[in-house]
Amino acid sequence: MTVIVLLGAPGAGKGTQAAFLAQRYDIPHVSTGDLFRSAVRDGSPIGQEARRFMERGQLVPDEITIRMLLGRLAEPDAARGAILDGFPRNRPQAEALDTALAEHGSRVDRALGIEVPVDELVRRLSGRWICRAEGHPYNEQTNPPARPGVCDLDGSQLFQRADDQPETIRVRLSQQLSSLEEVVEHYRRRDVLEVIDGMRPIDEVSDALVAAIGDGSAVGKR
Ligand code: AMP
Repeated sequence: MTVIVLLGAPGAGKGTQAAFLAQRYDIPHVSTGDLFRSAVRDGSPIGQEARRFMERGQLVPDEITIRMLLGRLAEPDAARGAILDGFPRNRPQAEALDTALAEHGSRVDRALGIEVPVDELVRRLSGRWICRAEGHPYNEQTNPPARPGVCDLDGSQLFQRADDQPETIRVRLSQQLSSLEEVVEHYRRRDVLEVIDGMRPIDEVSDALVAAIGDGSAVGKR
């Protein structure tokens, strides 16, 4: 299987790019944030546990997060691989992923870091809107929908996430940037890291990611 990890702070554009790459390479977009939000909506035990942390902008404990992610990767549609968005968020998660993939003779093929300065992250996160039906992301400044408040792709209503409020944004960023750095280092040492300038227009970032992955001939072969 081919596992591609997208790395970047909240607001770097991981969700937008992961959705694009999933379509381009025909493998699922696996976002731990989306998995948690749907667990919260369903009121499942994982959702009830995760909610307390998510509302405060804190990371959900590794034990719960890793179990949920590995469960998702074991589903049939991920047999050829996956684009991971929002996981791993710290070194223990990166190591747990390596161990689980190694058991299947696999590994992370590419870790793609999307780099964006902090001031820009705060600006983007406070302008972020998400669609109710599928979680398609929009941004007031950088990627507005054609009709305000309505998703271009499925017509559902757009909303702002509770954890995209300015105070929570600052907590999330300060907590997450240092562990993101650990994860970047983890993949740099394994020689699978490529860093992309996330300040460029969305299409150019997509092109740079595709160039870093290559033609995708490896996708599904391992
Ligand atoms: P995201 O949509 O990736 O920004 O994630 C939203 C929230 O879900 C985060 O603020 C965390 O509370 C939780 N979450 C998502 N991914 C992880 C992860 N890999 N480890 C721990 N918590 C996570």
